[in-house]
Amino acid sequence: MRLFTATLATETNTFSPLPTGLASYQESVFLRPGEHPDDAPRMCTAPLIVARRRAAKDGFTLVEGSCFAASPAGTTNRRDYETMRDEILGQLTAALPLDAVLLGLHGAMVAFGYDDVEGDIIERVRDIVGAKCIIGVELDPHCHLTLKRVRLADIIVLYKEFPHTDVVERAEDLLDLVLATLRGKIKPVMSLYDCRQIQSYPTTLPLMRAFVDRIKAMEGKDGTLSISIAHCFPYADVPELSGRVLVVADGDKAKADAVATRLGEELVSMRGKTMPEFLDTKGGVAAALAFNAAPVVMAEPSDNAGGGAPSDNTSILRELIARKAGDAALGPIWDPVAVRLCFDAGLGATFPLRFGGKTGPASGQPIDAAVEVIGLASDCWQSFGPTKVPLGDCAAIRIGGVDVVLITKRTQALGLELFTNLGIDPRAKKVVVVKSTNHFMAAYGPIAKKVLYVDSDAPLCRDYRKIPYTRVQRPIWPLDQDTEPGLIF
Ligand SMILES: [Zn+2]
Repeated sequence: MRLFTATLATETNTFSPLPTGLASYQESVFLRPGEHPDDAPRMCTAPLIVARRRAAKDGFTLVEGSCFAASPAGTTNRRDYETMRDEILGQLTAALPLDAVLLGLHGAMVAFGYDDVEGDIIERVRDIVGAKCIIGVELDPHCHLTLKRVRLADIIVLYKEFPHTDVVERAEDLLDLVLATLRGKIKPVMSLYDCRQIQSYPTTLPLMRAFVDRIKAMEGKDGTLSISIAHCFPYADVPELSGRVLVVADGDKAKADAVATRLGEELVSMRGKTMPEFLDTKGGVAAALAFNAAPVVMAEPSDNAGGGAPSDNTSILRELIARKAGDAALGPIWDPVAVRLCFDAGLGATFPLRFGGKTGPASGQPIDAAVEVIGLASDCWQSFGPTKVPLGDCAAIRIGGVDVVLITKRTQALGLELFTNLGIDPRAKKVVVVKSTNHFMAAYGPIAKKVLYVDSDAPLCRDYRKIPYTRVQRPIWPLDQDTEPGLIF
């Protein structure tokens, strides 16, 4: 058996002021065949790591293609996308004949001229490998699960957890299903239910926790092979943006239809009940300071680099300073120029620095202040479950009693290393502010005495009715009250 794997991934916020060019991939994940390290998957590369580990034991030959991934931001440069895609397609052609292809994609990537990048990739892969070759795809649940992908792939598996701590387990599931298909043990058929809704579904909250535990228990029983919930990615103006349920069943389309419909209807009934409560900036800081145990972890989803936000809004920091919060830490603020200035000033220096508030109107104003450089570290990393995520060179500054982490490689708060790399212990702080939607919970949930969510004036507004969509298919909740959910494949 011959299997091929490759990755081409980012999550595209089409409203972001930061276009994504080749350099964004080069500074994140840009690995040619054989170059992928063994230690851990990078963004969306779990299918490669899992297949590499299992090839000998499971008796197949793995042909590794390139892996390209960029931190979420704006639309990808068209020529750069086509260059990376065509490199992978060339490797695929050279690897023929193949029994299966494993694609580690994100699912919400948009390039100029391509609303549905993943659909484009799967279509071109299908054209090259033919109808009999099995195409298995792993996607992030924050994807646009388009009809084209479901029509052209054989098996699609999404991560179930948000925070995404199960990327490796789901890649194992995908490989299991692909191998079982090749061995003639199963005949996967897929059904897709469209909930016609835009919603966020952290699995750290009770309602979704119970839902995900239940669908996991259904898998492997009564002919149900796999169940995936596509949460959707709200910050993209693409036609097929919507929450969807995908069911893979063993040869029984009616069965897949029934399960997808039942679970889809259940998700529709959960509209408005799966998100945490959001406070405004003043209310959030006041609540954090009033709480009588520490640390309070305050998340700022609206400036989450993981959703394509610049991660340089300064509103919460201003409020912490104005309230003389002291004993607080905040990160990350993406500001490569400020990091460079801190390195030039040197550890222990106090000097006037302008930082943050630079990338776009929703970044707010920069802060001008005398800051103390309290930490400098080169080429830093943070962990996210089994994945390693680069931070680049980092600087920690103290301003008004708040320790602020500045980074050069734009990403969200994931691991405690964001702070500990620079000698800051988040466990010892009264308030820890993290720019992240919910992935922070994997590492910060366990240390938090309380978690608060603040909807600041940063760009990823949590009220989806305020997002200026023009191309999303309507009607869709909560933009419209009357919608028509139903089975679409
Ligand atoms: Zn995601």
